[in-house]
Amino acid sequence: MSHAITCPGCGCQVAPAGAFPTWCDRCEWGLVETAEPAPGFFARRFESRSARMVEAMYEDVVRSPARRTGWNAARIASYALALVVHAGTLSLVLLALWLVFAVPNVLTVALAAVALLMAFAVRPRFGGLRRAPGARYRADAPALFALLDRIAAEVGAKPVHAVIPDGTFNAGYAAVGVRRRRVLLLGLPLWEALSPMQKVAVLGHEFGHGVNGDSRHGLVVGTSLTTLERLRELFHPGPRDPRTIYIIHVLLRLVLTSLYGVLSAVLIVQSLLSLRANQRAEYYADALAARLAGPADVAGAFDVQTTTRDTYRFTVQRLTVGARTTDFWNEWHRALAALPESERERRRRVAARRKLRVDSSHPPTHLRIAVMQTLPAAEPALILTPAEEARIRAELDPDYTRIARRLRETATDRVYY
Ligand SMILES: [Zn+2]
Ligand SMILES: [Zn+2]
Repeated sequence: MSHAITCPGCGCQVAPAGAFPTWCDRCEWGLVETAEPAPGFFARRFESRSARMVEAMYEDVVRSPARRTGWNAARIASYALALVVHAGTLSLVLLALWLVFAVPNVLTVALAAVALLMAFAVRPRFGGLRRAPGARYRADAPALFALLDRIAAEVGAKPVHAVIPDGTFNAGYAAVGVRRRRVLLLGLPLWEALSPMQKVAVLGHEFGHGVNGDSRHGLVVGTSLTTLERLRELFHPGPRDPRTIYIIHVLLRLVLTSLYGVLSAVLIVQSLLSLRANQRAEYYADALAARLAGPADVAGAFDVQTTTRDTYRFTVQRLTVGARTTDFWNEWHRALAALPESERERRRRVAARRKLRVDSSHPPTHLRIAVMQTLPAAEPALILTPAEEARIRAELDPDYTRIARRLRETATDRVYY
């Protein structure tokens, strides 16, 4: 072992952590902090405003247990704004039809075409399964779907129609298509890092979104946000085309910049309106997960996500330099086992420092863990046995192989192209 070094911050002795950054757990010297300032005026405003909201929401949840998100002023306002956005898209189509039928000539037909193209570009998107490779259905994975059905029944959510295993460090629950079928996105690297009851905790949280009526994931508000984003992209002021006359460029840029600004402002208002509902919904999903798996395993699952996300990133990056024979799953298990407690603690503290920066989809993890710690210890409502876990692992074996190959291919592509 290498020798201890003297901490430049407080003068105490610090043991070097081998391949990991050396840091001091007393004065937090060496704790890598990456607080890049927000880019623009609006973004800075948005960040500080939402950070205050996040804190207030946490205090609120600790004081009174998370409830189902009901109808409140913010929610109604976000729905109203979404309906205005969708009405805008619809009126583009109506305008095009009116132009063609009421005053048909070359100019109006051209204008109608532009209006239709715009409406098509910003149309609400419902998502679909067609472009999801490797979706697994009920008959493919009976043990997995049996577990998912038990969880859905326990939480009170609709059963899922398909599971999409992928190579991310993530899990998600979505309603896709106009029929709003339920789909579970299952990042197998995350799945593999969790204990059986932590797996139940993560699934409980995801299914919890199915009973929330979460406004952002919802049909109306969610689609309006993507429409606004795409519309804003249409007006993104690009660099000057050298063929245009300077004054025209300046005027065009002025128009585009103001439209872009207005749309940014609307997008921020809509995001802030749904942020409150979203954060509430996340805590509510956590509460459902706690009832299902017990608060300790929910907190444990969050901790795994906080402490091993970087390890996942490094493991994927290392695939580029590894020998041709290295298997992602072997590497992943080895890296998880080799992660020292001091490095886990360093990552926890780095994550906690990010508390004022807003993760738009979830409240900061350390706050969610803190809420779990305020709950009384409880017996889980559902048990996943190691035998069931092994059956699920066997069912997903082709996906494990496919994902290992895919991760290696994308890693190699990044190096050579
Ligand atoms: Zn120190
Ligand atoms: Zn969530």
